[in-house]
Amino acid sequence: MARYTDAVCRLCRREGQKLFLKGDRCYTDKCAVDRRAYPPGMHGQGRTKVSEYGTQLREKQKAKRYYGVLESQFKGYFEIASRRKGKTGENLLSILETRLDNTVYRLGFAMSRAEARQLVLHKHFTVNGKSVNIPSFLVKPGMIIALKDSSRQLDKFKSSIEANASRKAPKWLDYDANNHVAKVLAAPVREDIDLPVEEQLIVELYSK
Ligand code: SF4
Repeated sequence: MARYTDAVCRLCRREGQKLFLKGDRCYTDKCAVDRRAYPPGMHGQGRTKVSEYGTQLREKQKAKRYYGVLESQFKGYFEIASRRKGKTGENLLSILETRLDNTVYRLGFAMSRAEARQLVLHKHFTVNGKSVNIPSFLVKPGMIIALKDSSRQLDKFKSSIEANASRKAPKWLDYDANNHVAKVLAAPVREDIDLPVEEQLIVELYSK
């Protein structure tokens, strides 16, 4: 399973904004975007003009990086989104949002999507009572996502659940915090997704 393994703070600097890829560190003054607010590389401080194509490309890269998805998989999601009814850009974000790793992150079990991905890979969660270790698994309305009984006492979960106690689960998930179980109520719509991404630019890029 391919994934990006280089320094993730470079990705935020390239997009010129925080993508919150490193959990706790993103909220401290060690954040690389706060310390060096210009793109990485030797020409990072010299770039000024961005073409229309460049703007569309950056928007796509930003969405990919938020969700930790590589190009081929992202394109696959776009194709699924374009076959669905409604606006392709919104469908795309809705699909990305329902990845199991993102769902686990949204429920507050992890400090970042990358950490959520690891937790899923290590089989800490069930979907409809069955263990699922596929981060890209797409949850659907009616499905039940739960933290396994055997994982509930792990310090890792105790600390992240405590740290994220004030983070509310999104409207499309009905979360029972006492039992660490969530039900998917509906597919997320655009207003449920608090991502500063202009999805229409991604549609324009792939439509060229
Ligand atoms: Fe991005 Fe977090 Fe690194 Fe800051 S600390 S640059 S938000 S990954």
